[in-house]
Amino acid sequence: MSSEVLRNAIEQVCRAVIGATDHLTDLDQAIGDGDHGLNMKRGCEAVLADLDAIAAKPLPEALRAIGTHLVMTVGGASGPLYGTLFLSLGKELPATPDRADLARALQTAILAVKARGKSEFGQKTLLDVLGPVSDRLSKDSATPLVDLGVVADQAAEATIPVQATRGRASFLGERSIGHMDPGACSLALIIKTVVTSVEGSAK
Ligand code: ADP
Ligand code: MG
Repeated sequence: MSSEVLRNAIEQVCRAVIGATDHLTDLDQAIGDGDHGLNMKRGCEAVLADLDAIAAKPLPEALRAIGTHLVMTVGGASGPLYGTLFLSLGKELPATPDRADLARALQTAILAVKARGKSEFGQKTLLDVLGPVSDRLSKDSATPLVDLGVVADQAAEATIPVQATRGRASFLGERSIGHMDPGACSLALIIKTVVTSVEGSAK
């Protein structure tokens, strides 16, 4: 991946997440404490502030740098989880990954996120977006990248009827039903923006 493609992808993701601050706040106000929008905005601003240095690195190092920024700035439950996701992807991916590399790295990163969050699929967290995206990649490594954005969106939607059994939303019990999980929403947005950006650069 060229540093320009990488730079565009990082910049577009950060701008998309910052643009979604209010929406993520609303979602987290409904079933959490309302800080997810600002948590993610803070993380993305830290990444943008270091964009030149990050984009100059090979992909694995860039992902690890992003993970470190997120761990240090996002806070909440999502900071360490997003940090773990990016740090793990940065450890697992080669500099020029193919789809199979991506599928393998994502599987390992999911195990790392599960271990960090003591969580599983189906608990109404960002893992419920990672799972279906990883499944699609593993089953069909030729799947067009943009399709992964659609899978991610559908997976975030699918958290709406689920009762949360992990994270702050689990304190609400049945009242967590009927709302999209904020972390699932932010992650779907990130995945959708990455694939659109990278696919767009390939044309
Ligand atoms: P906090 O819950 O501490 O206020 P945020 O609001 O930033 O942190 O993030 C909440 C999101 O983090 C949730 O919507 C969920 O997706 C994710 N999350 C919380 N706890 C866990 C966990 N144990 N495992 C996986 N994801 C989690
Ligand atoms: Mg919160």
